[in-house]
Amino acid sequence: MKPRYLIIGMGAAGVSAAEAIRDASAEAEITLIGDERVGFYSRPGLAYYLTQEIPEKHLFPFGKEDFQRLRLQILHARVVDIAPQEHYVTLHDGRKLAYDRLLIATGASAAQPSLPNTKKLQGIVKLDNYADAQDIRKLSRRARAAVVIGGGITALEIVEGLQENGVKTHYFLRGERYWGNVLDEAESRIIENRLKEEGVDIHYHTEAEEILEKRGKVVGVRTKAGQQIKCSIVAYAIGIRPRIKLAESIGLQIERGILVNEFMQSSIPDIFAAGDVAQVFDPYSGQYVIDSLWGPARLQGRAAGLAMIGEGVPYHKGVPFNVTRLAGLTTTIIGQVGSGADKDLVGIARGDSETWRQLPDAIACQQSFDINHLRLQIGNQRILGSIVMGDQTLSQPLRHLIARKANITSIKDSLLMPQAPIADLIAAFWAEWRKDHEI
Ligand SMILES: Cc1cc2nc3c(=O)[nH]c(=O)nc-3n(C[C@H](O)[C@H](O)[C@H](O)COP(=O)(O)OP(=O)(O)OC[C@H]3O[C@@H](n4cnc5c(N)ncnc54)[C@H](O)[C@@H]3O)c2cc1C
Repeated sequence: MKPRYLIIGMGAAGVSAAEAIRDASAEAEITLIGDERVGFYSRPGLAYYLTQEIPEKHLFPFGKEDFQRLRLQILHARVVDIAPQEHYVTLHDGRKLAYDRLLIATGASAAQPSLPNTKKLQGIVKLDNYADAQDIRKLSRRARAAVVIGGGITALEIVEGLQENGVKTHYFLRGERYWGNVLDEAESRIIENRLKEEGVDIHYHTEAEEILEKRGKVVGVRTKAGQQIKCSIVAYAIGIRPRIKLAESIGLQIERGILVNEFMQSSIPDIFAAGDVAQVFDPYSGQYVIDSLWGPARLQGRAAGLAMIGEGVPYHKGVPFNVTRLAGLTTTIIGQVGSGADKDLVGIARGDSETWRQLPDAIACQQSFDINHLRLQIGNQRILGSIVMGDQTLSQPLRHLIARKANITSIKDSLLMPQAPIADLIAAFWAEWRKDHEI
């Protein structure tokens, strides 16, 4: 009998695993189960769909023919139970499906704020999935004002989406600046100033106490300081929670996510996990972490698929590398940059608005740059992390230098001099370094 591969979750990790299994075996019977009506789409693309920068069709990286080529059995259903001894899963409608190898790729969902009413009222939104994005766009048509709660990338994407849709947006920050555990003060201010220029009202040191309602609809927010703000939308993005309910119910080893080894194998050997639901070993921090990024989800899915079919290649988590857009400014975050990442730190070098060289490996996400900002976290002999805002010429070179722990002793002191032309120093160093290293 052909081996049966069952994948729960039709996201980046699940689809990538299916591709890997099919690449390795023309015979394999692959079933992909997803509970979202629209199937596979780009979650990162939702931010651009919200601002109406891309049409809906651009959210879908796979066409019908791509799926046909993979010869999958695709089921629009929700898995509600796993029987690990008997090797089957149960769907929401009671159907049972047998498997030989199972992948849990159920992703993560937005954490709920601990406020009363957050589930029941019309006008309370998050941005987890396609349906949420549609919801926000629909509500925006009638809304005059919105409140957004949360301090990271997704909160900002919602802020920008609402503002672009003509909704006056109040952005609540608990602390005194935006994303203080990753950005330094200058970087936070760059982002905040851009938001203010777009008309966003930033409320510092502000937390919601209660969402005000009338006949089941949001009409405002009362803050802990007693201020009332009228709005018909309250959006939250305060972090994510891996969807581990199924894994918990069968006693898999779990911390925040499902703990997996380098073959994405869980504590039950024929059950694998990948993507936002999986917790993988991070050689940089020495801890098990959740990556919650599209690229790693694809790579983990591939590693899981190959391991399921018995052609496992160990998955090694790479240096963190996240290209995103903050208040319209392309921003790449590489390696260790935030608070708690300063164990080996000896200094920080910063540069602004320099004219940077064009390098052959440059990735240009943005054509014109009104702001260029570069931060380097410098360790004893190497660069530990970096933030590149605006011109992205140096982001790929820095990725390699950081990942490969390039010895920068020769330029370290120059980098740490006041007003050092750090971008030029890095560009020149990179040009030499790459001559002796395979990229
Ligand atoms: C708004 C937004 C913007 C983002 N922007 C970026 C970005 O710019 N760059 C970046 O790298 N990453 C970004 N991410 C993160 C990235 O999209 C995720 O890391 C990636 O999608 C994770 O893939 P996954 O396959 O693990 O999970 P998901 O993509 O979440 O897929 C899991 C799927 O499983 C389904 N599912 C769950 N439980 C069941 C069940 N019991 N039965 C059936 N189906 C089930 C879910 O509904 C979902 O469709 C963003 C995410 C969001 C939400």
